[in-house]
Amino acid sequence: TETAATLTVEDLSVHYGGVCAVRSIGFSVEPGASVGIIGANGAGKTSTLKVLMGLVPRSGGRVTLGERDLTRVRARDMVRHGIGYVPEGRHVFPGLSVEKNLLLGAYARRWDDETRATLEEVHQLFPMLREMSGRLAGALSGGQQQMLAIGRALMARPRLLLLDEPSMGLSPKLVGFILDTLQRLREEGLSLLLVEQNAKLTFGATSHCLVMENGTVAMTGTSEELSQDTRVRQIYLGL
Ligand code: ATP
Repeated sequence: TETAATLTVEDLSVHYGGVCAVRSIGFSVEPGASVGIIGANGAGKTSTLKVLMGLVPRSGGRVTLGERDLTRVRARDMVRHGIGYVPEGRHVFPGLSVEKNLLLGAYARRWDDETRATLEEVHQLFPMLREMSGRLAGALSGGQQQMLAIGRALMARPRLLLLDEPSMGLSPKLVGFILDTLQRLREEGLSLLLVEQNAKLTFGATSHCLVMENGTVAMTGTSEELSQDTRVRQIYLGL
């Protein structure tokens, strides 16, 4: 596995035709840190994760992990650099079993004792995934699919996990469960980059946050500071 390293994003931009979705943003995620990106619909959060993963072309900027330049690494090779991705809307394979979905997350690994141990860890984190091993992923509820999507990403043993709106469409109880799960993963040393419209969840799950507005980083700070900020409270917490 990879050694711990800081993810650094510099001057990163994304354009879709003439539309600028991300404008020269910069931030870093240190090993073991948990960083959140909050912002309204369309602020550029998803595009930020996608460009980091090599899923949309960048129009400028650099992404490095420690000394290593990841700017031109393809999405399917990112797992080999220790970066996992849980896309918005889960995107599990509905026609495959829960177990097959999990095993696909380990595509870059051999099916050996270590990989078996990772499957066991994922099953301990989400006992439901063990109980429903043979069930088709498409038959799971939204919350169960979200757990499967997280479990699938964990099967690659990432050092840094990028999560896009894991709370979307979930009941408050399940949002609480996801929050607890992210906390446990952090305690195990995983770094997190969490994109959310749910600012309350994000402040609870992270130590630092960026606020994105119109493709730019409008504010940064500790999650504690931001959650006390008058403007943030009005706009993002509805207080
Ligand atoms: P959401 O909460 O909806 O995911 P977001 O903050 O993640 O919002 P993005 O999805 O990154 O925002 O979108 C940023 C901007 O880029 C928006 O104006 C959006 O309409 C535009 N955009 C996103 N994807 C495309 C695309 N494939 N083609 C053209 N424009 C796009």
